[in-house]
Amino acid sequence: MSEFNCDLHFHGPYSSGVSKHMLVPVIAEQSKLKGLDVCGTADLLQGTWFKHLKENILEKDNGVFQDKKEQVYFIPQVEVQCNKRIHHLVFLPDFAAAENLKESLKGKAVFDSWGCGRPVIRLGPEEIAEKVIDAGGIIGPAHAFTPYFSVYAFFDSVRKAYGSMGEKIHFLELGLSADTHYADMIAENREYQFLTCSDSHSPWPYRIGREFTRIEMKQPSFKELKKALEQKEEKRVTLNVGLDPREGKYHMTACNACYSRFSLEQARNLNWRCPKCRGSIKRGVRDRIEMLSDGKEEHPDFRPPYMHSVPLAEIIQIALDVQSINATTVQSMWQDFVERFGTEINALVDAPLEELREVNPRVEQKINAFRQGWVHYIPGGGGNYGKPVICNSKEEFERKGRELLREERVGKDFAGQKTLGQF
Ligand SMILES: [Zn+2]
Ligand SMILES: [Zn+2]
Repeated sequence: MSEFNCDLHFHGPYSSGVSKHMLVPVIAEQSKLKGLDVCGTADLLQGTWFKHLKENILEKDNGVFQDKKEQVYFIPQVEVQCNKRIHHLVFLPDFAAAENLKESLKGKAVFDSWGCGRPVIRLGPEEIAEKVIDAGGIIGPAHAFTPYFSVYAFFDSVRKAYGSMGEKIHFLELGLSADTHYADMIAENREYQFLTCSDSHSPWPYRIGREFTRIEMKQPSFKELKKALEQKEEKRVTLNVGLDPREGKYHMTACNACYSRFSLEQARNLNWRCPKCRGSIKRGVRDRIEMLSDGKEEHPDFRPPYMHSVPLAEIIQIALDVQSINATTVQSMWQDFVERFGTEINALVDAPLEELREVNPRVEQKINAFRQGWVHYIPGGGGNYGKPVICNSKEEFERKGRELLREERVGKDFAGQKTLGQF
């Protein structure tokens, strides 16, 4: 068995807002630089994309899929939207299963026009789950906590959302707005494996793999993925890596025009209308989780650690204090790190500090801060991203934390009255 870095949720160029560079040879080449071993195929049910996949990905007889240059592995994947406006992440064993699923959904969705990479299916979560499982696939909620298009936007429970198929759901995708720490505040979630995926719309290394899951498998195939997700006691999901949810645009409840923040109670009393600018107040992910939480900070035995991180180019940009992530200095230093350590993920997660220091000590310091969890966030809200405050030592982290609390720029956590740290 080996461990593989998996990013299992992508979109192809036939979904709206996706880069035209999002093609298998580019995805494979860039994923290799990033350090991803396994990618989702994206948009498996869209006709033109399906053709592209069949031409560019080879299926071996042991259920393993690879690009022609054998740079990375692929697992057949698609995201669908149901009639409750929830997005679901679907994995299938092979191309034939995709054709069968598509056939069984005929008349219920439009698959083959532009913008339909993520088809809208006129069926509920329960009926879609049934069809996916009949086709030999697995399904779970995508970005389960976002305020739009997610299971927790419309339901109090994943199990209830899927009705009689609830027992067949084994994973949920955390999405950029939640981490393990938050998701496990809801009792029911302690039964699910968590996937962290990028949901990427472009193939560049500061987009793909900005969230990924490390999974132990014999070989990177659908069958092994299914096992890892369903047989939790084997603890084959070994690490989740992703953004800190406080960086998310909808973390706190806030006005979507002037970004003023409100407590849930204030927002309700104001009838979700901002008193300062008459803009509308959007409920934050943090408050939604608090509404559903049993107030306990518990993790199941099989839960792996969660490492908060941001793409290496962003860390370099911060360390060198440069305006743009596309600046030549940032890009050339990114190259230096990737050449030295083979991949971006290796530099971010696994490489020894002494060796990172040899390339650039300022960048090494910031990478270490993420590994140690010495990062505070001025949380986002109302559509405005949060901002990281990266500290160089534990002492600085603690001092900065007290300062930020005093200035009320960060809030206390609802559980245990402390700011959220690394889990
Ligand atoms: Zn989605
Ligand atoms: Zn406002």
